[in-house]
Amino acid sequence: MSLAHRDQNVIWHPYTQMKTAARPIPIVRGEGALLYAEDGKAYIDAVSSWWVNLHGHAHPYIAGKVGAQLQTLEHVIFAGFTHAPAVELAERLLQILPSGQSRMFYSDNGSTAVEVALKMAIQYWNNLGKPRKKIIAFRDSYHGDTFGAMAVSARSAFTAPFWPYLFEVEFVEVPVSGKEEEAIRQLEAYAVRGDVAAFIYEPLVLGTAGMVMYTPEVLDKLLHICRQHGILAIADEVMTGFGRTGRTFASDFLHQKPDIVCLSKGLTGGTMALGATTCNERIYAAFLDEDKSKTLFHGHSYTANPVACAAGLASLDLLLQEETQTSISRICNSHGAFAQRISHLPSIQEVRQRGTILAVEFRDTSASYFSELRDTLYSFALDHGVILRPLGNIIYVIPPYCITAEQLGQVYQVILGMQEVVSGEKAYPRPEQTMLHD
Ligand SMILES: *Cc1c(COP(=O)(O)O)cnc(C)c1O
Repeated sequence: MSLAHRDQNVIWHPYTQMKTAARPIPIVRGEGALLYAEDGKAYIDAVSSWWVNLHGHAHPYIAGKVGAQLQTLEHVIFAGFTHAPAVELAERLLQILPSGQSRMFYSDNGSTAVEVALKMAIQYWNNLGKPRKKIIAFRDSYHGDTFGAMAVSARSAFTAPFWPYLFEVEFVEVPVSGKEEEAIRQLEAYAVRGDVAAFIYEPLVLGTAGMVMYTPEVLDKLLHICRQHGILAIADEVMTGFGRTGRTFASDFLHQKPDIVCLSKGLTGGTMALGATTCNERIYAAFLDEDKSKTLFHGHSYTANPVACAAGLASLDLLLQEETQTSISRICNSHGAFAQRISHLPSIQEVRQRGTILAVEFRDTSASYFSELRDTLYSFALDHGVILRPLGNIIYVIPPYCITAEQLGQVYQVILGMQEVVSGEKAYPRPEQTMLHD
């Protein structure tokens, strides 16, 4: 039996309607920006395997460091014990994180990094004896799939069955062009009430919302209001961190610095599951007390896993190399030129770019066509050897930094082909009629 068939007998895939989904594509090997399927076909990973991969697949330098760590110490309980990879990664990250960050709390993934941030913020106010209950978030935000993270995320179809179980959050408009004043007004109205513990935000780019972008200027204004009212600022840099926006962190574009930062995805270069929540001394100090009830009672079995931390250190080495920084600039420039070239095309509603992240929003000509369009575009890209996962009518590119100019050119060609499909210039069979997954 083929791997895909065996998979279908035992696996339940994420974000997948198992009844109607095409058979999964077995991947046997990765190298650079390419993933190789069982049938020998190569795919350009233009979405960095769900936004995690920074330096390409099976990177030999990261593999070497991970291998060495595995043979030295694979794991140790992180309460009462410590180890070099965790300490060194914290030391090095705190040096490059937005100013003021001074403590690092490890977990396993982006959602847990967000859970820890929310618990830090809420308990901070409790520990001070001035409990504040409310959290502010952007209306279309995405902060993860666990309950706390869902609560501060958009009330969307993804979370609908759980709405009654999610704590109440004050949502403000995303301050995209034209909505800035509205967002500021709404945030200010909540802020003055004095019961807001924290504002959590995806800085500059809302990923899952469809790579929705807004300016550092308006975020600075929002954060300034938070500052005036003592509201803690939680930057969810899970997607934007580690060079995605063209700077190391999206927060580097801002004057107002966050109190808490959430990291994951690129943290290990996409090699291992690892999350981290960092905070400034103001937060940390509120947990120091003779009274043990002020402790942050949170931890995961694999907190600060040494192998994951070793991957994090190796990825950081690569990220800070001049060659990688040059690649990041090259991708930024290349995206910029492509965006200019296509923005006027009739089937394209809008092209957005922030650093290495490029989003193309197609005009959805009819609402009924809309959901089908997503599957059509996805299949079209796979057929042409490129992995692009549309968010509805939005296609985005968030490549590993090692992607070559030629590979990036191929990705752009596929997007040009997609716009011909959308505009009707090019006929393309509906996904059910293609044989690509067989
Ligand atoms: C992906 C993502 C998360 C959740 O991370 P997981 O590791 O998938 O749990 C949280 N916040 C943002 C901004 C993300 O993009």
